[in-house]
Amino acid sequence: MNHLLEIRNLQVELKTELGPVYPVQGADLIVRRGETLCLVGESGCGKSLTMMSVMGLLPPGSRIQADRFHLEGETLLTLDEHAYRKLRGPVIGMIFQDAMAAFNPVLRIGDQLAEPLRVHKGFSRKAAWVRAVEWLDRVGIVEPEKRARFYPHEFSGGMLQRAMIAMALITEPDLVIADEPTTALDVSVQAEILDLLRSLLSERQAGLVMITHDLGVVAEMADRVTVMYAGRTIEEASGAEFFARLSHPYSRGLMACTPNWRAGAVPVTPIPGLPPALTAVQTGCAFRFRCAEAMVICAEKPEITEVAAGHRVACWLNRKPDVLAAAVRGVDEEGAMDVDD
Ligand code: SF4
Repeated sequence: MNHLLEIRNLQVELKTELGPVYPVQGADLIVRRGETLCLVGESGCGKSLTMMSVMGLLPPGSRIQADRFHLEGETLLTLDEHAYRKLRGPVIGMIFQDAMAAFNPVLRIGDQLAEPLRVHKGFSRKAAWVRAVEWLDRVGIVEPEKRARFYPHEFSGGMLQRAMIAMALITEPDLVIADEPTTALDVSVQAEILDLLRSLLSERQAGLVMITHDLGVVAEMADRVTVMYAGRTIEEASGAEFFARLSHPYSRGLMACTPNWRAGAVPVTPIPGLPPALTAVQTGCAFRFRCAEAMVICAEKPEITEVAAGHRVACWLNRKPDVLAAAVRGVDEEGAMDVDD
């Protein structure tokens, strides 16, 4: 079966003045039509760079490789910038976190919405303007004809976020990537924006990748969840399975540091320490220096393996006892160092 987006073992190397950096070291994810995938993890865990790779927006000199990196069954690895320009907009839409920074401050909102229709879909200036006004109406902007003539600074934060959703969806892309789309909004506007996004995408059976560190948003939105740590996918499952059986210690740590205001809820417990600097390819489990359950074997990198149908986890704790025993024996024979070394 062809997934809308399928990524297996994606590796990204960036060139910097201080030397190479490896921000993605084994990203795995799949997105199906009509589904929302929530991509979860702390800042710097490779979520955004994984999706920038899909958009073909990595800095010059970056290197990328993968076992599979396919959109609608076609590889993205061989695309050049010209081919990517044809994808961005008509096939892949992007909703950015900072709507104010995403709009050009000296162009009217309506013109900015209309532009992708003229560039990618061959609309006339007038037809594109009419469609832009229609989309402002669809995303709940009151008096859309009047507001289409406004400049970005004349919109509130919530209105700009709605306009950005309109701009990402106006070309009717198959895949939409939303990078923390509601972080800057207050809670009531956030709920409205998420509802709007969900209903607009389900109309079209498009796929949505929602990048977030907010497990409340994940619980609300996710058909599937992928958790990344230190550039690698360490857990992936359906939304229901993920919350029913949090299997990776890092996923449990994220849950433990999510505020819960219900009476009698357990107090928030932060994960100690920080994610590693990704200036080298990680050996072993990258979480072992922060993991309360780390063992000697964790100095070896655990494969990501299936623990239930569609639920995959990269942690030695989730390996079958005989596999774990054999791996531990192997480490003992090699005289592996303690994990804190
Ligand atoms: Fe913790 Fe080891 Fe599992 Fe890594 S592999 S999360 S260190 S138990």
